[in-house]
Amino acid sequence: MTKARTAVLAALDGATEPLSAAGVVSKLADTCDQATVYRALHYLEAQGHAESFVLYCSEHGVERYYASASAPHRHWFHCESCHRFVDLGACRIGGLVADVERELGLHVSRHTMYLSGTCAACLAGAACLAQVSGTSPA
Ligand SMILES: [Zn+2]
Ligand SMILES: [Zn+2]
Ligand SMILES: [Zn+2]
Repeated sequence: MTKARTAVLAALDGATEPLSAAGVVSKLADTCDQATVYRALHYLEAQGHAESFVLYCSEHGVERYYASASAPHRHWFHCESCHRFVDLGACRIGGLVADVERELGLHVSRHTMYLSGTCAACLAGAACLAQVSGTSPA
């Protein structure tokens, strides 16, 4: 693997959440330009070293996010309030995929899924604010 590909894969391996190409560039402290990172990400995914999904959010628009494929296949939740990812852990929809295969007589070779909404921390923060304003004398 080229130096850039190795560096990009190391950035994905070390990340605790999926990274966009821009996120990888900033992890690499701008030692690789964005075009090099894009090519490396494309290569790594094609070779099965990385997985990606496309997500829309109000803050970042439509963006593709990459995660290392060295960890077990997993899914993510994106908070539309703080824009952080929550790790949902190992894939739990294997049963659903098997049902679809059986019912429709097809073979599923890959799938993408993410959930989005409000994370626990943001929900707790919103509840706090509601309580404060509810008990405030003003
Ligand atoms: Zn949040
Ligand atoms: Zn977001
Ligand atoms: Zn899955």
